[in-house]
Amino acid sequence: MAKFNTLRCPTCRTIVLAGSEDFPFCSDRCRVIDLGKWASGGYVISSPIHDPELLDELEGLRDRGQASSGRGSQDER
Ligand SMILES: [Zn+2]
Repeated sequence: MAKFNTLRCPTCRTIVLAGSEDFPFCSDRCRVIDLGKWASGGYVISSPIHDPELLDELEGLRDRGQASSGRGSQDER
């Protein structure tokens, strides 16, 4: 087995050749996606939810979603 200078794209796991224009990403698109993940992750961590009304609303949405999706999957199977 020969040794190649390759790396896997952090975004889509495609093998990328060293020296590629967008190394270590396979394409400019994957690089932007990776940067976006870091940016959005930092934003979420630095902005915890403190609004109790918003939490109530989210719980209501989650309960409704579970009820409807549960019935739907049972009917299909
Ligand atoms: Zn990629």
